Amino acid sequence: MRSINSAYAGLSGNYLFSEVARRVRAYKEKHPEADVISLGIGDVSQPLVPAVIEALHKAVDEMGRAETFRGYGPEQGYAFLREAILKHDYLSRGVNLDADEIFISDGAKSDVGNFQELFGEDAVIALTDPVYPVYEDSNAMAGRGGVHENGRWSRIVYLPCTKENNFCPALPEERVDVVYLCSPNNPTGTVLDRDALTRWVDYAKKNDSLIMFDAAYESFIRDESIPRSIFEIPGADEVAVEFRSLSKTAGFTGLRCGYAVVPKKLTARAADGTVLHLHDMWLRRQCTKYNGCPYIVQRAAEAAFMEPARTQMKAELGIYQSNADMMLKTCAKLGLEAFGGVHSPYVWLRTPGGTDSWAFFDMLLENAGVVCTPGVGFGASGEGYVRLTAFNTPELTRAALERLEKVIK
Ligand SMILES: *Cc1c(COP(=O)(O)O)cnc(C)c1O
Repeated sequence: MRSINSAYAGLSGNYLFSEVARRVRAYKEKHPEADVISLGIGDVSQPLVPAVIEALHKAVDEMGRAETFRGYGPEQGYAFLREAILKHDYLSRGVNLDADEIFISDGAKSDVGNFQELFGEDAVIALTDPVYPVYEDSNAMAGRGGVHENGRWSRIVYLPCTKENNFCPALPEERVDVVYLCSPNNPTGTVLDRDALTRWVDYAKKNDSLIMFDAAYESFIRDESIPRSIFEIPGADEVAVEFRSLSKTAGFTGLRCGYAVVPKKLTARAADGTVLHLHDMWLRRQCTKYNGCPYIVQRAAEAAFMEPARTQMKAELGIYQSNADMMLKTCAKLGLEAFGGVHSPYVWLRTPGGTDSWAFFDMLLENAGVVCTPGVGFGASGEGYVRLTAFNTPELTRAALERLEKVIK
């Protein structure tokens, strides 16, 4: 028999979204006349802004002229984009980094999924529960899961996030090598404040752990006191890697661009005692296995960090934020317990009357023709919740909420 990576055998299938799709399909077959509205989508609906499109066109034209044509680019990204990100995202908020600590990529999912290649095989991984599945699956694929039983991996440390702890994960009792944090959070829509992040940075320093900080939704933060970057916490550049993306913030889900910040101060010890810099390791990894984000996309991304795109994007962000506001208002009016939705496009709704996630999903689909995402699909602690997203259009969001009102009353 061919030798294969047996860890794949323990992976659960892409159960959540395929099961949602299956139930929606069955409903549509039974009710061909029904117009189903989805508050389940995790993709943006607003198009790229005009200034980004203009930059794209210009870069395309450059590629057609010998004097401005670009072939292979630097795997870690062009300096013009790294500088634009440094200035806009970090220096402007008092965070000092070098532009070459920023690695441009085709998205945060790839980076966050690939980065675990740098960890030891025996590294102990901690994740929040519920969780963005990429953190868990990518480590399980690499053999760090152990045995998969009852929806959990035996070697992974799970940190429940529920309303009881205000969706703020408790520090693990044991030492872990790596912890994944996501703020603003997908799926709960909640944020970690400065105190919570400081506790994690202190924990990581004390335990020689690494924080993998996913900030894909930072642009949704409305309160200036909430950190947008882990590097706003003093000393975080010794313990953390940060992942960002233009997907949700600039509508790049189809165009594809993200970036990882890997500080040069971050070191780790190999089994033989050699001290390695994660920055050097990541550069080596990317140069070997990655070809770089396309030039034209990097020019489009550069435009997204400058005016007039900033103003144009603010208007689109405002659409999602006002959708989230509408959702929270309706939940409050109906006496439903809802979390998140202020600094993120996700509302984490407690199902009424102790209904389980899938039963509430079925009820909402059956009686209202509205699709949500069952919370239990993101982890055991998501049971009894569903996720609603603000990514639909204002018209359809409003229509979905009117239907929700009718069935909850
Ligand atoms: C959408 C999302 C990302 C970004 O993904 P891309 O690969 O950049 O499109 C990263 N993390 C979380 C938690 C997300 O929801």
